[in-house]
Amino acid sequence: MTVFAPLVIPDTLAAGPGPGNTDPRVLERFASSGVADHMQKDVLRGMMEAKQMLRELWGTKNVYTYGVAGTGFSGLDCVLSLVLPGDKVVCFPNGTFSGIDTLTIRMKAATAEELAADSLNPKAASVTVIDTPHGQSVTADTIDKALAAHKPMWAFMAHWETGSGRINDLKAFSDACVKHGVMGICDAVSSLGVADFSIDDYPGVVAWASCPQKGVLSLPLTYAPVSFTDKAIDMVKKRGCRTYVHHPILDARHWGIVDGKDVDTPGYHQTHSCYAVAAFHEALRIILGYGRRRKASDYAYHEKALRQAVEAMGCDVTSNMTSLVVLNLPGKLKGKEKELVQGARAQGFGIWPTLSEPVQVRIGILNQLSPEQISEIVSRFADAMLAMGAEFDKQKVMNGLKSYYAKAA
Ligand SMILES: *Cc1c(COP(=O)(O)O)cnc(C)c1O
Repeated sequence: MTVFAPLVIPDTLAAGPGPGNTDPRVLERFASSGVADHMQKDVLRGMMEAKQMLRELWGTKNVYTYGVAGTGFSGLDCVLSLVLPGDKVVCFPNGTFSGIDTLTIRMKAATAEELAADSLNPKAASVTVIDTPHGQSVTADTIDKALAAHKPMWAFMAHWETGSGRINDLKAFSDACVKHGVMGICDAVSSLGVADFSIDDYPGVVAWASCPQKGVLSLPLTYAPVSFTDKAIDMVKKRGCRTYVHHPILDARHWGIVDGKDVDTPGYHQTHSCYAVAAFHEALRIILGYGRRRKASDYAYHEKALRQAVEAMGCDVTSNMTSLVVLNLPGKLKGKEKELVQGARAQGFGIWPTLSEPVQVRIGILNQLSPEQISEIVSRFADAMLAMGAEFDKQKVMNGLKSYYAKAA
């Protein structure tokens, strides 16, 4: 038998698309929670308070708003379980994550024969995939044309596609869903807690999923926020869905949501962790205390600083999200993206390449909303570039950043 030494994980600067650097307050709640079971009254109270804070953060009156235990894809699995074999769906992927969501949809919509024919990558005849190239946003025109032509039951789009760093046209998606009588499903993993938006302003979207580790900043494996309109829940009630643990109606019971109403006697669904509940609850308190609008404007302000700095190093930024920049390296370094990222990561500076073609570099600023923190990211990235043979004056770049902040102040 082998018993390994205790696992020690170093503290790194998580400067990628996610996870963001967890707030010490979240870790403190996680570690100082007492041991209590999943039906203990304060654990349940924490879940019910978290549910209410989540509605506030997400700007919704949807009763079916709660957290799915796990990561972003756990929440997505829950909302995408609305899709049953043979359902007609139009998907609008434009990068890695919406691509994986589209695969999930093809798996769920595939007939038994289609699934067996290619089980890891089924070609479901009822699913139409409208690809938008990496680096571009899904546009109103693309959405409207496809929904008019195909008249599906469901449509799917990511709000912010983290793989390519692009913001998609959520209003156009919702409007087109309303116009064509389609039920929209949206991956809002990267936008919740970063962007200032209220889901009730998008009535064409009936189901939403986010994640714990990006804008919500509650990594210590906690909850993926989900929200369903009554229309979506009625569909599940009528048709059912093929999951117990990620069942939109059954999972909600533990959060005190039963028969479309908030109740103060939650029912057991699974063994929720008191530690996770305490951490998630604190993360929501932090965001709401900071203020959704202020947070969104702080992200935009600091993203602009980072963008200008990497452009001053000769990089070409192709993203428009405010929590990260996705960039092409200058001519001389082209083709060395992965090497540069590996070098940075070896130094505890956690930036990322893109996970699907084309290869680009992604630098994120989740929970790094101060001039000092952005300066640290810029300085470390400059060092990584210079180590690879880039030619620019680091001092000049750092001075440019300083004057950006001085001007703003
Ligand atoms: C990060 C991300 C996911 C996956 O989230 P996990 O927490 O890794 O499961 C899905 N969709 C988008 C848009 C993302 O950014």
